[in-house]
Amino acid sequence: MTSLSCPFCGVRELAEFAFHKTLPNAGDDPLSAVYLRINQVDDSHEYWQHVRGCRAWLKARRNPSTGEVLEMNLLGAVTS
Ligand SMILES: [Zn+2]
Repeated sequence: MTSLSCPFCGVRELAEFAFHKTLPNAGDDPLSAVYLRINQVDDSHEYWQHVRGCRAWLKARRNPSTGEVLEMNLLGAVTS
């Protein structure tokens, strides 16, 4: 993974972004998300910020093993 796509700025170098946090996978109940967190090698939900660009907060779903970005959305945006 050498670049990420910002919804406002388009595809930019990875150095423009800052990683903030890995989130529990969607669908987990709140207690399991805190106490029974399981890291998955092929599906990670993460917070990123475009710190050297528009400073937008982004939510990414990606495969950490390959670096492939499966989905990139604005934080708080409704996805189907
Ligand atoms: Zn941006």
